[in-house]
Amino acid sequence: MAISIKELLNEGTANIGALVTVQGWIRAFRSNRFLQINDGSCFGSLQAVVDFNDFPEEQLRLLTTAAAIRLEGKVVESMGSGQAIELMVSSIEVIGIAAADEVQKTVMQPKRHSLEFLREQAHFRFRTNTFGAVFRIRHSVAYAIHHYFHTNGFFYLNTPIITGSDAEGAGEMFRVTTLDAKNPPLTDDGKVNFGADFFGKSVNLTVSGQLEAELAALALGKVYTFGPTFRAENSNTSRHLAEFWMIEPEVAFNDLQANMDLTEDFLKFICRFVMEHCKDDLQFLNDREAQEQAQKPQHERHELSLIERIAFVIDNPFKRLTYTEAIEVLKNSAPYKKKKFQYDVSWGIDLQSEHERYLVEKEFKCPVILTDYPSEIKAFYMRSNDDGKTVAAMDVLFPGIGEIVGGSQREERLEVLQQKCAAFGIPEEELWWYLDTRKIGSVPHAGFGLGLERMIMFVTGMTNIRDVIPFPRTPLNASF
Ligand code: ATP
Ligand code: MN
Repeated sequence: MAISIKELLNEGTANIGALVTVQGWIRAFRSNRFLQINDGSCFGSLQAVVDFNDFPEEQLRLLTTAAAIRLEGKVVESMGSGQAIELMVSSIEVIGIAAADEVQKTVMQPKRHSLEFLREQAHFRFRTNTFGAVFRIRHSVAYAIHHYFHTNGFFYLNTPIITGSDAEGAGEMFRVTTLDAKNPPLTDDGKVNFGADFFGKSVNLTVSGQLEAELAALALGKVYTFGPTFRAENSNTSRHLAEFWMIEPEVAFNDLQANMDLTEDFLKFICRFVMEHCKDDLQFLNDREAQEQAQKPQHERHELSLIERIAFVIDNPFKRLTYTEAIEVLKNSAPYKKKKFQYDVSWGIDLQSEHERYLVEKEFKCPVILTDYPSEIKAFYMRSNDDGKTVAAMDVLFPGIGEIVGGSQREERLEVLQQKCAAFGIPEEELWWYLDTRKIGSVPHAGFGLGLERMIMFVTGMTNIRDVIPFPRTPLNASF
């Protein structure tokens, strides 16, 4: 049975003298007879030494970059620097050849490629060092998230992907239908008759599992969702996907303060986990970024390296302030006074990315939690504050990313919630099940949503969200 290269490299010199089988792809050659074999199990490659006198010419000719091979050999101490062990190859089996002219057409030709070009080769970008590192880290983050919640007494809740409730993000949803687009059934007044559709009503892909998670939290206490989320917003930015993954914890009896504490502890845990468990991948991405930064003018460079930025988040408290305070800070800022902001600043505006980034990157130079936003710019379910103007909302802003988490304490008072529904034009009949929970044993509760991809951007230093999800879906793009 083959041993993984991760195991072999981790075990170091313990296997010296042993006969092992490894299988993987040829990543590179060093001075001809040294092959670097990578099987994806870890960042590192195994050095395999092939004595050209021992093998027939026809076989050696097939040992090219990107070819898939199975090798048998003895583990020996490495003479060269850079690795503790290497494999003295005694048998070679070429499993999948990589013809040079085919390799030429892809990202597998051994040179540096732009991330844009790699995006067009989503089927092969996995085989690059960069994307190997990103997707191994993505796995570790997902694992860390489940681990965190499980050990803290949360239950993993699967909320529906197809949803009939459209109270949340009207106008930004993808409709799911089996009706014939060319010839749909019509109602008497000429509208499409979704009563004749598969579910007997109009349904969409979910934009959030929160409303459903609240129902469960009001019985199970602490729950979290972790699933795909869809937004048909036509914003072609480096931070938005049409299909992304969201984590939404919801906790009964938590207020906004407890919600902020949970968020901060949770985000720090993910950062610590990646630092402890993804060392090689992180170091590679750190160095890759450093190389890239060196090409940029001084004022565009990061003050801290990738690893330093993650360590900074772990070691420092997040800055907490209210939206109202943030508006004051922005109005007193140099870019505001010099009219450098593209969008104006006044109480009541929805903060633009340029404002968020100023607060995080220039003013406070650390993650920021903004709270107590004007009720008009936040969702109907957020709890009204006593001032009658603001709600118990919180957004977490990260350097280089902007908003990474959005959350709130929820409105648990039936009458206030009913007033909010009316004010937002949401018919109560549509949310009868949600409102019902405020009639029987209602309690204060709170939760938030973390965009998985934005978190991965932060811990990998990748600057385009398309490069941290295996198969990105964005406006006009659903290839692969
Ligand atoms: P933004 O203002 O950046 O569009 P939002 O206010 O729409 O975010 P929420 O509805 O609060 O975001 O969603 C919770 C979290 O989900 C966000 O903080 C972000 O991390 C993530 N998120 C939201 N929209 C997207 C998207 N289109 N692609 C990727 N992640 C997203
Ligand atoms: Mn949005």
